[in-house]
Amino acid sequence: MVVIRGATTIAADEKEEIRAAVKELLEQAVNRNGINRDEIVSIVFSSTSDIHAYYPSKAAREAGFEGCALFSAQEPEIVDGLKLCIRVMLFVEKEIAPHHVYLRGAKFLRKDLTSVINIAIDGPAGSGKSTVAKRLSADMGILYLDTGAMYRACALKVLQAGVDLNDETKIVDLMRDLKLDIAYENGAQKTILDGRDVSEEIRLPHVSMAASSVSKHACVRMKMVEKQREIAEKMSCVLDGRDIGTVVLPDADFKFFLTASVDVRAKRRYDELTAKGISVDYLSLKAEIAERDAQDEGRAIAPLKRAEDAVLVDTSDLSVEEVVALVKRKIQEKI
Ligand code: C5P
Repeated sequence: MVVIRGATTIAADEKEEIRAAVKELLEQAVNRNGINRDEIVSIVFSSTSDIHAYYPSKAAREAGFEGCALFSAQEPEIVDGLKLCIRVMLFVEKEIAPHHVYLRGAKFLRKDLTSVINIAIDGPAGSGKSTVAKRLSADMGILYLDTGAMYRACALKVLQAGVDLNDETKIVDLMRDLKLDIAYENGAQKTILDGRDVSEEIRLPHVSMAASSVSKHACVRMKMVEKQREIAEKMSCVLDGRDIGTVVLPDADFKFFLTASVDVRAKRRYDELTAKGISVDYLSLKAEIAERDAQDEGRAIAPLKRAEDAVLVDTSDLSVEEVVALVKRKIQEKI
């Protein structure tokens, strides 16, 4: 006897959603494992506590799996657990090496079995990208890549060298020697420039503006984009930036573009910096953000822009929880 496991998710607790998802899950389990339906002894389902509209076992019978014992049970409510998820075990009378089947949102349950998944979150400074990206990556157990930190590190390198931010010829040389590493400590990204942890230093306001200036140069962008693609190709991650959905990963599985009014964004940055003990003037911060937006939107290469297929989210009047929930719902609907 062999057990094939699997899981899938539905976008809403509706009978037709459940019927379609169960049919797809079972058909994939049969096809991928090369078994006949009459070799299945029994099928056991469990569904998360938010599913009430239909019994998965009934949906299985209606999908033509009526020759075996069928059973459905409901799981207890798990805080932060995957929502609207149906799990299955097929007991099969055949000696095979089972291929387990994780579909739609349930792909996140078995990252060892599924291919790489990338989520692109773009938007201007202070739109909430990094907060949302960090939460998503923690909840889904995938990597968070803060691409802004990479441009900030390049800017720091240029500033330290005393090179003019517009001097592309000299910046080309600096980029050639750049040693930039991205490391993770307890899940938090560390930016290592020339062997030194600069994660805090790159957050200073003058570095923000310098990052915006150096990031317009092709030599900087080419090097950073290559590094970002290398990371995203190897592992599932949430990337935040300005050009992830348009240039870095135009085929990303999920794309979001976050915005908020400049007042709200400036206030968020002000609170963030003052909480860290960095004293800043609100009005200058607001002016800097507006200037950075204009520079990022107006540059010739990879400007800050919403990809046509990115979901637009205005976070001005939403709490972090609300934005995270909205983004998760959109991901769930698509998969
Ligand atoms: O996101 P963050 O504010 O840390 O980004 C700093 C600067 O880096 C941005 O203003 C932008 O000019 C640049 N950047 C970019 N492309 C990215 C991420 C950031 O040009 N993917």
